Amino acid sequence: MKFMDLQRIYGAAGHELRTLLLSIDLSTFDGAKAEEIKHKAKRIVTYLNGVSGRWTRQTTKVAYEKAAEKAKAQLWKLGRRIPRGIMPARSGPGVVEATADTALLKATGSIMRTVEQFVSAALMGTVVAKGIIGAVQEFDYEDVEAEIADLAARAVKQELSSGTLKKQIMDRLRQLVGDENFIQIGERMYNLGAYARMVARTTIREAQTQATLDLCARYENDLVEVSYHGTDCDICLEYEGNTYSLSGNDPNFPILDEQPPFHPNCKHDILPTSEAEIRVREREG
Ligand SMILES: [Zn+2]
Repeated sequence: MKFMDLQRIYGAAGHELRTLLLSIDLSTFDGAKAEEIKHKAKRIVTYLNGVSGRWTRQTTKVAYEKAAEKAKAQLWKLGRRIPRGIMPARSGPGVVEATADTALLKATGSIMRTVEQFVSAALMGTVVAKGIIGAVQEFDYEDVEAEIADLAARAVKQELSSGTLKKQIMDRLRQLVGDENFIQIGERMYNLGAYARMVARTTIREAQTQATLDLCARYENDLVEVSYHGTDCDICLEYEGNTYSLSGNDPNFPILDEQPPFHPNCKHDILPTSEAEIRVREREG
């Protein structure tokens, strides 16, 4: 499974969820149908959780091994060999895998909350469209529900038909799922595909960094260089192309206080380097 696949699978799931929610017909919607919708949404979420777990295990491992090969080749070029004696425990891709799993599970967990809010708003829409305005009070007032109550109140004042009100409510609900932003992290809503892409990229970068750190520990190499690609990102400018000491014990180089990725979708990584190599490069200009 390639890393872009996660984005595709999440994107397709977002589309499916949107279609599912927009299949709601306010004329016939009721508690039983609401449960049915939630049940179907739950199945999509369960499927995503399964895919995510498989994706994380495979991708972190592959990204880690690839970066480890690259770091090892660089360490050999620097003349480093594994010292005799006790070998430091390598942490491996496990930590990165766990972080990615947590991020994805948290995201898919939030999808059901979004679905429930939508369904609850639709139920309320059904009730107000029937003209039973008094029953509105039973609902928990989320922002959208307050808006629907508003639409209903205005409909009464303007003597709109129940059909027109239903259409207005459905338009508002359709707007709500237009971007397929079903994932909520903190205060922000995310599109499923975009969120998956962000987690995928971050996970791969984290696996790369972890591999380089593990190899540096094993070869007892202290200096690393942050990659250079002419970034215009404020966060990364501070680090790009610079050399850092992992231990913080080298008086000539600052400690690497943050590790790439420095932010979501960051393209930076680190590679082992040495003072000798830096001198050679300076001589060559
Ligand atoms: Zn960056």
